[in-house]
Order: sequence, then structure tokens, then C-alpha cells
Amino acid sequence: MTTEIYLDGNATSAVLPSAITAAAVAMSELYGNPSSTHATGLKAKDMMSTVRARARRLLGVGSGRLMFNSGATEGIQTAILSALVALRERRVAGEPIGNCLVYGETEHKAVPESLAHWNRLLGLNLVIKPLCVDGDGMHDLLQLQMLAPNAGLVCTMAANNETGVISDLAAIESVLAETGSAAYWLVDCVQALGKLHLDLAGTRIDYAPFSGHKLYAPKGIGMLYVRDAAPFTPLMIGGGQETGQRSGTENMAGIAALGEVLCALEDGTRFRSLAEMETFRERLAASLRSALPGVVFNAPFNMSLPTTLNFSVPWLSSKELLDLFDAANVRVSSGSACSSAKSAPSYVLEAMHLPTWRCAAAIRMSFGPLATVADIDAACARLERCGTALQESCMTPSGHGASSGSAVDKGPVQFSLGEFNTWLVADSDSGTCVIIDPQESLAPRIENYVRCQQLQVRAVVHTRTTASESTPVVSIALGAQILTGVRHDDGHMIYLLADGNGASPVPRFAFTGAIAVSAIEPVLLGDATLLCPGIDAPQHICTTRAAERNLRQHDALGNIAPAQLTQFLEEHPEALLIDVREHYEHAAGGAGSGGVQVLSVPLSELTGRIEQWLSMPHVPLVFFCRSGNRSARAAACLCRLGHHAAWSVAGGMAMAGVVLQRRSQAS
Ligand code: PLP
Repeated sequence: MTTEIYLDGNATSAVLPSAITAAAVAMSELYGNPSSTHATGLKAKDMMSTVRARARRLLGVGSGRLMFNSGATEGIQTAILSALVALRERRVAGEPIGNCLVYGETEHKAVPESLAHWNRLLGLNLVIKPLCVDGDGMHDLLQLQMLAPNAGLVCTMAANNETGVISDLAAIESVLAETGSAAYWLVDCVQALGKLHLDLAGTRIDYAPFSGHKLYAPKGIGMLYVRDAAPFTPLMIGGGQETGQRSGTENMAGIAALGEVLCALEDGTRFRSLAEMETFRERLAASLRSALPGVVFNAPFNMSLPTTLNFSVPWLSSKELLDLFDAANVRVSSGSACSSAKSAPSYVLEAMHLPTWRCAAAIRMSFGPLATVADIDAACARLERCGTALQESCMTPSGHGASSGSAVDKGPVQFSLGEFNTWLVADSDSGTCVIIDPQESLAPRIENYVRCQQLQVRAVVHTRTTASESTPVVSIALGAQILTGVRHDDGHMIYLLADGNGASPVPRFAFTGAIAVSAIEPVLLGDATLLCPGIDAPQHICTTRAAERNLRQHDALGNIAPAQLTQFLEEHPEALLIDVREHYEHAAGGAGSGGVQVLSVPLSELTGRIEQWLSMPHVPLVFFCRSGNRSARAAACLCRLGHHAAWSVAGGMAMAGVVLQRRSQAS
């Protein structure tokens, strides 16, 4: 199993080993409650005070407050609550408070969401105004000049978590001063810690939240700085811990671990310098440029943290890139970690008005200041392997398809975009193909495929036709097979692919476009004809008339739990292990090299294998993919079509990677 290369440091980080030790000591030896007055409590309190003193020094807190809390989301809540309570009090006292709350458009969602929440709960009902950014992600200072005089609170981050873009805090401070703004100022410093020099009391920043887990401390520990003269209202009230600023017994293990990280920051020898991190970024960027021709970086390097690279590739979606990197055991994210679960385009890049495709296809690669030369060497080598895997697939504009095998023995190949399918049928003898229902946005991908498989397009046909068209019975000979177009009704054609040697052969495949199976003339099809839909909302891939009749009987799908996989494979040595990820994912992971036991059959090629697998209905088919989603679809499809032993590995490579990889490499 190749080792994991973790390049998602802006989402979270592993915990510094000495911080783990410090946390363990806090739990085993310094386990006292720092509020207790006996010796055990005093020792714990002393540890906490040492960490706080170190943090105060490092952040230049001066006479301001510095409290421990659970992380930046809590810090942001506390800051916004404090500012808004003060605004409400000023309003009640008849003082002017402005009419709006301003936040940078690229802020972490915790900021605008908290503004809306507390504004509503406190009945302030101020207008919440986004502050625009330019194409480089920098705040629009002219707009800020207009807004600042009437703002009650301004929220801007020190560095952006998706792009790494560093805000010009000095310029923002000047605008606030020049416009005589009385606004409070919140600066989210989460991504700045350990990467930018901070001297908080030397600025007019009122509130600065920090999060431990972004810099080698555990999750659940954070800090909030509050300027000396800034208003403060506790978010949590109770036992009066943190001198009443944040009640609740302190997270002592977290504080001890954070203390170790701060110690590493302070001693200055363990973390990389800015210059070293810039070299690392250059090397990663060079590998990306060579692996992913056409890659575009979404933030200027000279304006962003050297630890963050945000990029898009014109011919790959962010999902495809994530899958590829994940297959190579390289962890990156699309957009921020919180938004990458939802596959929406990046709101940060949209705010920068980048072209739609770049917002939708963006990948964030981020490392931390503990990265070593060896880490970056390994990451670059792995990225280059991803590039090779892509080149050997038919995905890239210059790919040569070595890993994809020949198109001609695949049967129908499916290109999907959401629920819409384009199908391609190729013939080995003539090296020609027919494309059915081409989707415009799939055109580049299909072109790459056709070129890289050295096919000539014989015809492009559509199942949807206009009523005014006369009915051409299209008949195209594809080697030993014939593709026949039969008019279904005035609006639609069905294309039947059959062996060309029988008198009236039963079609093996039917391309049915948007036509419901139940509406198809029964004489046209055999019970086992594989029906390939143009629209596949339920994501069935393909079906048969028999399967449609028996739909309810075949609902049960077999999942193999990762823990049971080894035993299952031992008990079923005849089982076929089938990787339904794309060929480039299969190749990037190094799985199945020369293997006979692991087949690489992407979902797009599944239909072409189904007849063969249905002819051995009791041989277990064990499908796997990255996370278990694609393999579940494959197993469900086979199950529905009548195979008796189609299984999906639950959780996919993510959960059962070790077993699957071992199995592939043994083969
Ligand atoms: N602000 C920024 C810029 C972040 O990157 C994050 C983390 O994703 C947060 C706030 C929230 O931090 P936490 O996870 O500590 O609540």
C-alpha cells in the first residue's frame, strides 16, 4: 500500500508528535482541574498559564484578552456576539451605530452565518453587506471606504482558506481610520497562524479567532484575542472559568498540545521559513504543470500563503481530480473541506469572478510549515504518476490510452453528464464508431476518446428527432454487427445493435433515449436485450425488459463490510474483483499491475461486460471503487439484471484499501 501524502493542511493537520506527548502528559500526570486549589489543580493551572503566556507573546496581545475555547467557529460567535451586544447597547443609549454589518465575500461561512444569526436573535436588524473582492481575491477598498462610515462591524480574514490570498490588513486599517469609522473589526486569523507574523495589539483589530487543528494541535482547541478596549460578552456562562470569559472546564489536553505547537513556533527551528515554503510551492506547481497540461492557478502566488495552491484543469472536473489524487493516495480537497462534501462551485472563486469552469473544477492543495523536502519530493513524484496515469487514459487532450485498452472490445461505452448519457459503439475491423445522443458539454471528452482510440466516427445519431422528419430507417453496418434505427413515434428513434448474421436477430443492445421501457414495442426487443437509456435519472446504468418487470424482487444489494473482505475472498477464490474506478484512477493507485484477479472496468464500460457476467451468474462479482458509491451502482445493476452474487465493498478503497491493494499486487 503506498503511503498517504496529505496535502489538505488548510482543512486540518496531523498532530505534532511532541504535542501528542504533551496532551498525554496533561491527561495522565497534569490531569488536575485548573480551578482546583489543591496541588494537583495548581500544577494543571500552571501548565495552562505557561501556554497562555507563550501565546500572548507570540501573537503580540499586549494588554488584550486571550482566552482558550473550542476553535475558530466559537471564537467567531463570541466576537460577533460581543460586538453586536455592544451595538445594541449603544443604540439603546441613543448613540449612532451605523446601519450595516460588513463581511468580506470570501470569508469562511462561519462569519456571514453568525452575523445573520446574532443580528436576528438580538433584534438589531442591521443590513448585512458583503464586501467585494477583486480578481486576485483582494478586498475592494473603494467599496470599504463607502461602507465603513456606516458599519457597526467589519469582518475580514487575514488569509483565505481556499486560495491562501493574504488580505492587506494595513490598507483596511487605513480605510477604517481615514473614514473615521467607529466599526468594530474582526479578523479571522485561522490560516495566518504559523505562516504570517502577527502583532495584534499593534493594530486596531478588535477580535481575532484562532483554531488549533489548522496548525498541528488537535481539533477542539482554539483561542480568541480581544483588544483591550473592545467590548466583550461571554458566549458561555457557568463556572466562571477563563476569568468568567468562557465557562466550562478547560480542554487541558488540547491546551497542552497547542502549547507545544506554540513552543515550536517560538523556537523557530522546527517550522519551515517562508522562503523554504515558497520553494516547496514552486516545486509542487512545476509538477502540477507537467502532470496536468493546461492547469491554471486561481490565486497569484505573490499575494498568497506559500502553503496553498488552488488550481483548475480545463478538461477535468474537481470530482475527477479528487478521485485521481485519492487513488494515488494524495489527499487534497475541492474548495474548503466543509463545502467539498457538497459539490457546488467554490463561492470564494465565484466572488473573484473567475470563469465558471474554474470555480466548478477547483482543487485546493495545501501543506503546513512542518513539511520536509522529502515530503515534497514524494508529493511531486506522486503528482507526476497521476499525470502519467492520465496520459495513459483517454482523458487528456494528448492521452494515448495505453491503460484504457482498445475501444473495440468494450461493447457500448457510456459517457455521462448527470442523468444524461451519450453512448459510443465501436467496431474492431473497420476502426469506426457511432455516437448516439451526443451531449454538447461531453464533446471534448468524446473527441479525446475517439482520437486516442484511433476511431473514425461513422455516424452521429440522435434518439430525439423532430416530428417533421421523414422516417429514415437508419442501418449502419459495424463489422459483424448492425445498428438499426427504428422510429418509435414522431419524436423518437430507438437504435438496435444486433449481430448481423441472423435473419431477424434479437438485438443485444438497444439505445432508447428518453423512451420509457414500458412504451417500447415488445417485438423489437428480446427479454435480455440490454437497454441503454439516454436519460438515466435512477442511475441504473442499463436495464432489460425482464429486469424492469421484476424490479421489486431484485432490490436487495450485497455489501461486503471491509472487515469481512479478506474472509470473503478466501472463501470465494473464484470471485472476480472488479475496480469500477476510471482507468486512470486504477493506474494511479498502482493497483492491479499485471493482475489477473483485479479487473479494471469503469462504470462507463460496465454495459459491455454484462452479457459475459450474466453467463456465470454464480461467480461472485466483487465491485469496488473509491468510496463505495460507484461500486454500489455496479452491483445493484448486476443484481437487478439477474446476477446472483454481485457485491459492493462498502466504503471502497477508503475503508478497505489495504486488503484491496494487497490483493491487486499479489495478482
Ligand atoms: N475560519 C477559517 C478561515 C477556517 O479555515 C476555518 C476552518 O475551516 C474556520 C474559520 C473554522 O474553524 P474551526 O474548525 O476551528 O471551527
